Amino acid sequence: MAKIQMKTPLVEMDGDEMTRIIWAMIKEKLILPYVDLKTEYYDLGLVSRDESDDEITKRSAEAANKYGVAVKCATITPNEARLKEYSLKRLYPSPNGTIRAIMDGTVFRVPIVVKGIEPYVPTWKKPIAIARHAYGDIYKASEAKIPDGAKVELVITDDSGEKRITVHEFKKGSGIALGMHNTEKSIRGFARSCFNFALDMNQDLWFSTKDTISKTYDGTFKAIFEELYENEYKEKFEKAGIKYFYTLIDDAVARVMRSEGGFIWALKNYDGDVMSDMVATAFGSLGMMTSVLVSPDGKYEYEAAHGTVTRHYYKHLKGEPTSTNSVATIFAWTGALRKRGELDGINELCDFADKLEKATINTIESGIMTGDLAAISKLENKQSVTTEQFLDAIKERM
Ligand code: NAP
Ligand code: MG
Repeated sequence: MAKIQMKTPLVEMDGDEMTRIIWAMIKEKLILPYVDLKTEYYDLGLVSRDESDDEITKRSAEAANKYGVAVKCATITPNEARLKEYSLKRLYPSPNGTIRAIMDGTVFRVPIVVKGIEPYVPTWKKPIAIARHAYGDIYKASEAKIPDGAKVELVITDDSGEKRITVHEFKKGSGIALGMHNTEKSIRGFARSCFNFALDMNQDLWFSTKDTISKTYDGTFKAIFEELYENEYKEKFEKAGIKYFYTLIDDAVARVMRSEGGFIWALKNYDGDVMSDMVATAFGSLGMMTSVLVSPDGKYEYEAAHGTVTRHYYKHLKGEPTSTNSVATIFAWTGALRKRGELDGINELCDFADKLEKATINTIESGIMTGDLAAISKLENKQSVTTEQFLDAIKERM
């Protein structure tokens, strides 16, 4: 069988620990036999990041901007313990944070749904993707304890002078105050990423804030989304047969719980932090959650939402068998290959991605799965296999 040819390289960002082991196995067993894989390789493993003083991370993100599609393995975000373990020169920032800052993107978390692993919410039949705005609000705020008798004001200064808005006069005892911000540029970028991703997935987009209470702050989020939708996206959405829908956050929560799923839910920074953990947990396992970073100008970086699965890696190093779920990492590869196929007009590459996803899901639905899934699957014939056996079972189906 002739291998599928590629035109443009994928930006390949290798990573750490157990996911690095899985990464190599996925390529060897599931991709290289079928695809004449073209990648521009960046080793984001901690050793390589340390050697390059983290320049490699920046270069990989710039390559993602250049080529448009990247696939990333999970990486260690070093802490004090890792500093010692790897004898690092310094504590490097989270690679995901560095990449997100350079690509200026929004992260969408997308669960993979299989039969036998039922979401905790019985009405959810299809995945719910969460888009969290990743800039500002309480994550970049100034806050203080306020003594009794003090007055807190918002002071806005520019060339034309000074404007003061009273926040609160603490006449009846001490308290607390917080000042937060966001920028129009960041909100616009977020909105564009969400509209682009909805078109990409061919799914409705929901957006929710508390604009009835926060008329200016949340009201601005709502207005920017509405303006972009009306001026740039409405026609495209109508053509694709999908909807943009705005509602209040509390109404959205109630609707989400009653829904069947199958849409994208865009949220402000804090709402997204909280709701993404709730939705992810309700869909089952961390090993079944993918994540894709979409930039406002339509560049993509695909990865698994989980980390490097350290505990399994130490077992692996001792020569003990592991049962690590590789599904989210496989789907990161298929997501990236499909997107590359779409952009370069290579249908065989898109078909290949579909087939590999189908083989993966069918393997689990036939009862062969890793330990994390076997622990929650409702299938009677379920069988817990090792990391490698699971990949071999998928290969057999391919
Ligand atoms: P983690 O690697 O996601 O693992 C947490 C636990 O969840 C594991 O110990 C395991 O439970 C379970 N788990 C996660 N993924 C699994 C999979 N694919 N298959 C089976 N079980 C899975 O998170 P962590 O332990 O907090 O972090 C480990 C390292 O990953 C850290 O250095 C952190 O910086 C990094 N990290 C990277 C990313 C990223 O690159 N996107 C994200 C998060 C964390 P059991 O041990 O009970 O089996
Ligand atoms: Mg959180």
